[in-house]
Amino acid sequence: MWDCIVIGSGAAGVSAALTLKANGKNFLLLGSPELSGKISRAERILNYPGLSAVTGAEFCAALAGQLKDMQIPVADERVTGVYAMKDFFSVLTESGASFESKTVILATGVEAVKPVPGETEFVGRGVSYCATCDGFLYKGKTIAVVCTSKRFEHEAKYLYDLAGKVYFLPLYKSPADLGEKAEKIVRKPLRIEGGLRAEKLVFDDREIPVDGIFMLKESVSPAVLVGGLETENGHVKTGRDMSTNLKGLFAAGDCTGRPYQYAKAAGEGNVAAHSVCEFLAGRA
Ligand SMILES: Cc1cc2nc3c(=O)[nH]c(=O)nc-3n(C[C@H](O)[C@H](O)[C@H](O)COP(=O)(O)OP(=O)(O)OC[C@H]3O[C@@H](n4cnc5c(N)ncnc54)[C@H](O)[C@@H]3O)c2cc1C
Repeated sequence: MWDCIVIGSGAAGVSAALTLKANGKNFLLLGSPELSGKISRAERILNYPGLSAVTGAEFCAALAGQLKDMQIPVADERVTGVYAMKDFFSVLTESGASFESKTVILATGVEAVKPVPGETEFVGRGVSYCATCDGFLYKGKTIAVVCTSKRFEHEAKYLYDLAGKVYFLPLYKSPADLGEKAEKIVRKPLRIEGGLRAEKLVFDDREIPVDGIFMLKESVSPAVLVGGLETENGHVKTGRDMSTNLKGLFAAGDCTGRPYQYAKAAGEGNVAAHSVCEFLAGRA
């Protein structure tokens, strides 16, 4: 059982991890080996204290170096669900791994790819974010796979091997060919429609009936990731101590709301980690 699991390796998650380490906590940092696409893409950062006009790539390298110096590994895992048990959390990942922790810090940023209308409504009813969790339900069936990054192509391939027919919708440049069972459609659908379950993808000039739809993307909305989590306009509702409505679950960074800035994310990550320490000591 971990003391804490930090989900997300951007400024908020890294800051939380550094503070947990300094406080001697036994924790896991789950995220991406590149840390954060949003950090590395920034052209020039002028408003982070102590760093003068660095590029996003330089900032990312500095964070990676700091994690290395502090011996904090980043586990390359995409979290697909966080479940509040009686007095701990169960965290499931795309690779099929499952971790248990006394506390969780959600630092997942904001969704870079806006949900397709209908997506959130049909989650668990024909729309899935997890190939390995739900892929077997669609053995031999017709599915659509919306893939937002080359990084998730292996998941698309996993689904291709299971399904009877695949509509592959890559939303990035130079996608791979999955194989002859796949029809590649290089654009985003207008919406997902259905009744009790998702039934079709709608484009401006055609509709595609499907048995299931997989959305392979970096981040999903916090309310979808964590059942029962209170959100407001898509952001996690927190107190000043970064606590949420779920005891032991804290949130930090862009996922808690504007302004979307590195300094705010790092500050909130720090506060969340201190709150975790208080919670573990039974003082919160
Ligand atoms: C092009 C660009 C330029 C910017 N320039 C500036 C600037 O100059 N100054 C400034 O202050 N701000 C700037 N920003 C904003 C800044 O990037 C964000 O405010 C900051 O990155 C937020 O940090 P975060 O840790 O909350 O989220 P992010 O940096 O978005 O990190 C979130 C992390 O969570 C991971 N993650 C998400 N979901 C999951 C999951 N389910 N499982 C595992 N990991 C997950 C992601 O992979 C990522 O590693 C810029 C943003 C962009 C896009």
